[in-house]
Amino acid sequence: MQCVASAITREVGGDWEVVVFQDDSLNAFALPGNKIGVHTGLVRLVDNQDQLATVIGHEIAHVLSNHSSERMSQEYAVKQSMSLIQALGAPQSALGQTAMGLLGVGAQYGVLLPYSRLHESEADLYGLKLMARAGFDPRQSIRLWQKMEQAGKGQQPPEFLSTHPSHDTRIEDLQKEMPEAMALRQQAIASGKRPNCQK
Ligand SMILES: [Zn+2]
Repeated sequence: MQCVASAITREVGGDWEVVVFQDDSLNAFALPGNKIGVHTGLVRLVDNQDQLATVIGHEIAHVLSNHSSERMSQEYAVKQSMSLIQALGAPQSALGQTAMGLLGVGAQYGVLLPYSRLHESEADLYGLKLMARAGFDPRQSIRLWQKMEQAGKGQQPPEFLSTHPSHDTRIEDLQKEMPEAMALRQQAIASGKRPNCQK
């Protein structure tokens, strides 16, 4: 996780905090202040570093595009984050403290609301370029979203699936961008960026 995250954040600069949350759901989130959270359920789902890079690139893209600050209703967001904190169960633990800290920031900005479809599409395409620039294989993004869709059936929709127009549109959009993303990856590899993160 740290290996993948630092390869991507190196491309964009700045200090980033990436935290893994003990939670079986297929979810990840981004908060203002360069903070990213990924649930263990999602870490378990991915087959390789390139699929995890898809997730992290997507979340970093949300942060860099300031999507959170464009979300609505702060009051509603605070309620959501309070129930999330309760759901975490052990607020006195180190992980609980980290979660509370992250959610405190989240509540302030209303980041726990779903993103719009437009923001999801933007994050997909921007995230694809980011991971390719870091030397990860952008083709794995398509496999990741396919796996997410299959695994997400019958569950509460995770961040990635809740507001997106349709799964097929997401894949089509990514395929359109793939030649450019592959060119970025070739450049990255030629300049010595060859991430080798093991699960
Ligand atoms: Zn998203």
